[in-house]
Amino acid sequence: MKVLFPAAEVVPYSKTGGLADVAGALPQALAGLGHEVLVVTPWYATLGGGVAPYWVGDVKVPFDGGFETVGVGVLERGGVRYAFVGHKDYQRASLYGYPDDARRFARFARAVPQVAERLGFLPDLVHAHDWHTGYLPMLLERGWHLPPGFPGLPSVFTIHNVQYQGEASLEETVRWLRLGPDLKATYLDHFGAANAMQAGAGFATRVTTVSPTYALEIQTPAFGFALDGTFRALAHKLVGILNGIDTQLWDPGNDPALPAPYSAADLSGKALAHSELVSRFGLESGRPVLAVVSRLAEQKGIDLVIGGARALLAAGWDLVFLGSGAPGLESAIARLASRYEGRVGARLGYDENLAHLIYAGADALAVPSRFEPCGLSQLIALRYGTVPIVRSTGGLKDTVTHGVTGFTFEHPTVTGLLWAAGEALRAFGTPTWGRIRDAGMAADHSWGASAVAYSELYGAVLRSWT
Ligand code: ADP
Repeated sequence: MKVLFPAAEVVPYSKTGGLADVAGALPQALAGLGHEVLVVTPWYATLGGGVAPYWVGDVKVPFDGGFETVGVGVLERGGVRYAFVGHKDYQRASLYGYPDDARRFARFARAVPQVAERLGFLPDLVHAHDWHTGYLPMLLERGWHLPPGFPGLPSVFTIHNVQYQGEASLEETVRWLRLGPDLKATYLDHFGAANAMQAGAGFATRVTTVSPTYALEIQTPAFGFALDGTFRALAHKLVGILNGIDTQLWDPGNDPALPAPYSAADLSGKALAHSELVSRFGLESGRPVLAVVSRLAEQKGIDLVIGGARALLAAGWDLVFLGSGAPGLESAIARLASRYEGRVGARLGYDENLAHLIYAGADALAVPSRFEPCGLSQLIALRYGTVPIVRSTGGLKDTVTHGVTGFTFEHPTVTGLLWAAGEALRAFGTPTWGRIRDAGMAADHSWGASAVAYSELYGAVLRSWT
């Protein structure tokens, strides 16, 4: 099957979070199952991966009342083709966070069919991701100026995080996308504003979220970010498919960022990683290390670790933080590190290599999220023999079982976190800890099973379509 796979960030070329990990790994796994996948993504100012795309040429994109020119570059990796959409609006310091983001990604979505056509790729279906590409299912149904073969194509829309919805003026969005005037009171229209997330879900043939529990949670007011009613109405076509991790990139048996490889059978390399971590952060050695590797956003509940830090230290944990984001959280972590020198280590920023060392060298990973669509950090921790301590929500609930592969707590409060961390500390150093760590390391969170689930969904979509 030919799958067109547009995504705003793709490992190893660009990344701010888990969406990039998924868009990096899932297409490769789908290619392994025999699918032909074209990933389309913006050509940002700096691209990771160490290879520049090969310049193919320009295409004209119907946009904002006329036609605009975008550049097209291509790369191939692991049997997957990657197309990069070039425009000056993507040549900025960050991927997102600009007032004109809705316009930037409306253009991107609008460019996707034209870019595919330019590369001779006529898909069987389009698999779009999150609000940045949420316009596409609607464009396939309602868009003018689509290349031949595109009008009416079926689509799958995957929700990675409902919080970010890409709301903008309805009139302007309709103008940017060059849609007809009849989009009021459709799924694009959310109380008078254009909502790209809702449009993606509403117009897609099938909708997925990145874990089964999150698929249920987003239908409730507590997790739906004002779209819960929409998701209840769409429940018949909504399903959760758990993310995997890239087990080549995240492999303690073969990880260049670690001092030595290790496995469940021989954990001496993990002990070396622990020593390196302790010396890197100047911690007094001998205590178990509880780590955080996270975006510093309210969603992640890192304020609970900060609020409980004194009690965690008193109980006997050392703490290590790697994260970037909200300035208030960054400065609170910096304050902790300077106040408790030798017990708290902190690196504020984004550091891929250090993340690897922390996953390997820490004893436990705290993921106290208020909501978590899937979460990848706990999956990486499991594979690295680092016991996850997580709030029981979304994908965390689906992947960590209390007392079996980690420790979980129900309420996103300091008390909840301290309770679970206390349970973990009671087990630490006993055979229970080894049993839990080994069970986590043995769990299979590779993309294999998820890719098969997506492949079956694609098949069901095509069968229902033809
Ligand atoms: P989200 O996508 O909501 O940020 P996920 O758990 O799905 O959360 O994915 C987070 C990914 O980003 C993981 O691979 C994690 O290791 C990585 N990550 C988060 N913060 C940092 C950081 N400061 N430095 C390096 N990697 C980070």
